Amino acid sequence: MPVLGIGRDEDGPREDVPYGEGVKGGLGVAHAAAAAVHLDDEIVEHDILVLPRGDNMRVEALAVGEGAVAEEGGVVIETRRWELQFLRIIRGVLLAGDRVVAIHGTWKRRQCCYAAYITNASVVAGKLNVHLVAHSHDDVGWIKTVDDYYDTVKGILDSVLASLQENPDRKFVEVEQAFFSRWWNEQNSSVQGVVRRLVKSGQLEFANGGWCMHDEAATHYADMIDQTTLGHRFLKQEFDVVPRIGWQIDPFGHSAVQAYLLGTELGFDGLFFARIDYQDRLRRTRDKNLEFVWEGSNTLKSDKQLFTSVFLRHYNPPKGFDYEGSGGIIMQDDPSKGATNIGERVEAFVNAAKVYANATQTNHVMWTMGDDFKYYRSAEWYTEMDKLIHYVNKDGRVNALYSTPSIYLDAKHAADQVWNVTKNDFFPYADNKDSFWTGYYTSRPVLKGYVRALSGYLQAARQLEALTGKRDHPNTDNLWRALSVVQHHDGVSGTERQKVADDYARLLAIAASEAEKSMNLAASCLAAGVSPSDCLRKNVSSDAVQCPHLDISFCPSSENITSDKPLVVTAYNPLGWAREEYIQIPVSSNALIVTDATGKAVDSQLAPISDATKKLRKLHAELDIGVIPEDETLYSLVFKAVVPPLGFSSYLVKPSKPNENGSAGNSRVYEANITDSSTEYFWYTGEVGGQNSGAYIFRPADNNPTPVTSSVWLAVEGPLYKARRRQVSPWIYEEHRLYNGETHNELEITVGPIPLDDGVGKEVIVKVKANTTSNSKFYTDSNGRDFLERVRSKQVTQPVAGNYYPVNLGIYINDNQTDLSLLVDRASGASSINDGEVELMLHRRLMADDERGVSEALDEQVCIGSQECEGLTVRRMVYVNSGPVKEASRWRRLKGQRIYSPLQLFFSTPSGQNVPKQFSMVKSGYALPDNVALLTIQELEDKSILVRLAHLFEAGEDDTLSKPANVQLKQLFWHWEIQGVNELSLSTNQDKSSMKRRMEWKVAEKSEGGAKRGARIDQKSLLVELGPMEIRTLQLTVKPKNVVTLI
Ligand SMILES: [Zn+2]
Repeated sequence: MPVLGIGRDEDGPREDVPYGEGVKGGLGVAHAAAAAVHLDDEIVEHDILVLPRGDNMRVEALAVGEGAVAEEGGVVIETRRWELQFLRIIRGVLLAGDRVVAIHGTWKRRQCCYAAYITNASVVAGKLNVHLVAHSHDDVGWIKTVDDYYDTVKGILDSVLASLQENPDRKFVEVEQAFFSRWWNEQNSSVQGVVRRLVKSGQLEFANGGWCMHDEAATHYADMIDQTTLGHRFLKQEFDVVPRIGWQIDPFGHSAVQAYLLGTELGFDGLFFARIDYQDRLRRTRDKNLEFVWEGSNTLKSDKQLFTSVFLRHYNPPKGFDYEGSGGIIMQDDPSKGATNIGERVEAFVNAAKVYANATQTNHVMWTMGDDFKYYRSAEWYTEMDKLIHYVNKDGRVNALYSTPSIYLDAKHAADQVWNVTKNDFFPYADNKDSFWTGYYTSRPVLKGYVRALSGYLQAARQLEALTGKRDHPNTDNLWRALSVVQHHDGVSGTERQKVADDYARLLAIAASEAEKSMNLAASCLAAGVSPSDCLRKNVSSDAVQCPHLDISFCPSSENITSDKPLVVTAYNPLGWAREEYIQIPVSSNALIVTDATGKAVDSQLAPISDATKKLRKLHAELDIGVIPEDETLYSLVFKAVVPPLGFSSYLVKPSKPNENGSAGNSRVYEANITDSSTEYFWYTGEVGGQNSGAYIFRPADNNPTPVTSSVWLAVEGPLYKARRRQVSPWIYEEHRLYNGETHNELEITVGPIPLDDGVGKEVIVKVKANTTSNSKFYTDSNGRDFLERVRSKQVTQPVAGNYYPVNLGIYINDNQTDLSLLVDRASGASSINDGEVELMLHRRLMADDERGVSEALDEQVCIGSQECEGLTVRRMVYVNSGPVKEASRWRRLKGQRIYSPLQLFFSTPSGQNVPKQFSMVKSGYALPDNVALLTIQELEDKSILVRLAHLFEAGEDDTLSKPANVQLKQLFWHWEIQGVNELSLSTNQDKSSMKRRMEWKVAEKSEGGAKRGARIDQKSLLVELGPMEIRTLQLTVKPKNVVTLI
């Protein structure tokens, strides 16, 4: 590196500061040269004594100080207050500079003089353009917690900020707003001003713009929308920026929903990522097809195509060009330091560029100049890129430039190329023949379950908050943020270190507890008939509580019902449909009666809880709550709640008198000889040796799983439901329930602790069989939204692992007649390895790390104090329906919404014997159409209400329900006077009406247009029309009618 500008400060000793040393990415890499430049100095040409070396060297100097003056060619340039005027000196001649940099605080002396190369190249027509895109991939938790990583990211952002100010040609892509917004909030206004200018000038570009770079396999689309919205709102508010680039560079496979919903519906013009199946990559590289137009929706078809670019290699640069400790070769261009390697580096650059050019169309290639947590010492990257651009362009065979994904995309678009169309998705992802990343679809099933439960919970909490007025505290915002963090591709994916998973759970629990308080206040207000304005104004005391541990049958409120202390159970229904559903609560008495708000007895059933439940309850009450529950006889009380849409119903539970009419029926429990079980349990042995099975990768040692032997069934029979229970093995327990009036079976499966004492890691599955010839085909959902057809392939190198797909809603098989559908309560891996059956992975406990970075075996344990630890047990629900094909879709979609948005239960003691009446936000008699779900009701900062409505059916999925639907906003939100409706983009950062038109791309195969979209909303009728699979995002200005009507 030519150390230009080495000089001597008048006030001090000689300071030689070569690149990369001494000045942490600061302004002015080499000091001095401007020995004469001082605050208040009058700058004139000859004051700055610089002797550039070599023809192409430039030196830039600063004239510093308020009112400092520099003269160039007779023109006097004045600096303004708090600004530094760059002046450019080329071979000793001062030229007017073109950039202004603000520095906060006092003027710094000698912020001056770095060796500048000619780096201002832009796209050159007719040449191969190598777009150097500087980026850092900053995981929102993985090996370290999100907070620990922030310390690094803070340094990265500080360093990048300095480097960008040094040279206005340099650019950087910033992605994860969980980090950036935190850093931003710590900066003073001067630094913020600098950042704003860098954003405005295009030096700092935001890509993706969500809170994290979400996973695409184990995420629900509602969470993907939420976490993106959080980041996009921040960027809109602070910078008036609307990101137009999808940047999903690390997730381990890519979903159809990502392309069309979290791509085109955000207004993105392009999507970039790195990981696709190794064979697909080889094919695409050979065919120059790494860049294409992705049509992710079978309903919206060509209306929602997205330009997609898959990197030739990973998201790091070509070999030899990865710096900051990654083995890149530094360009030595200072003859005074010995032999230079300029020619050799330029040659290597040109050769690498040609390799990239051979893999894609047009004259543009992108090099991703960065890697995980790089740019902490950003000067090491930028210095080398400065040199590369300078010397490569001097060489002239190719054109190198500082670029961003936007600039690259625009260049691709301008090339007017015809692109191939790709449909469906990019699952599963394998990086070699033995390494299918299909294990993480299931890894950490308890965390996955917690995330999904809280996702539905957040939606319900926001509804109640919006209805009764949002408080500064407690509110649901922290839960929004915590859930947004955990959507990260090393979060809900289960591929993080154990301590990081623990930290995610901690963040979620703290935030959920605040949301719970907010909900309890709202529920108390509504139950007491307090109007929204009074609810906020008055210090309403909350007597309603919830039981977050109902899943382990632990609920102190319901376990101590006496005639002096009867219990009010209030069920809130977050769906826009009325619902009749069975509620289950733990009680300690076997003589109870349930009555509704009118005092009428409700059918109910009591059954003793199972030994498996007792064990879970005891362990986790102590572990999670620090309470050792008494080992009393416990029953589960089940009754049917009838709840209006967006409203609640209350029930009173009290001890019954002997033989009292309407009291809960006790179940008959007996050993049963059942031989026709539709479920069978197995485990795959996790491979150890070669490619291990691990957190990411599923690699069974044997493709034939080991069956788990079953034992005696217990039958439970009563007036409301029949159940069968069995201890399948010492560590697998199942209960099938069939409720009156329901067609499906509810399967409660408890797995764990998975034994490892035989030295074998196990991946436990349940197989469900049905009488259908499925012909190698099965269907799995994309992020809980669209269903995609999967064709089982015998050709794959891993016939089991290579046929696994992620499910978030469910999996089904069918023939012309019969359908078998399984719905899940959390993300899982699933497949159909044999015709007529589906299998679902339930839990995994493994012996070895799979060497993809996490460096830990997936071996989740629970420990209490000093007691011996044991493997983590998971309890999960699977909903199984078998029936005519024609009715299957309706069941899947409607039941799916009920699973995602369960009734939220509140417990309180009645004043007297009165229970609160029913309440509904919706006009009496109105409900959403069956094919429309309410995705969001959320109060925004300006008190307006964000509403998302989602059509639930794909085109052609159901004869009736796939048709367009209409929603009457006035009737749906009966308790508000709607004063105006504004339609927004999915992430709320653009008005739909003024949303810019997305880029159109020429495609090789023209495909038909998509299903019709709903018409513009008429402000008078407030009728919202939705086409199949359409989601509409609305901002309502509302005035509470100030009346809370209890029905
Ligand atoms: Zn990552």
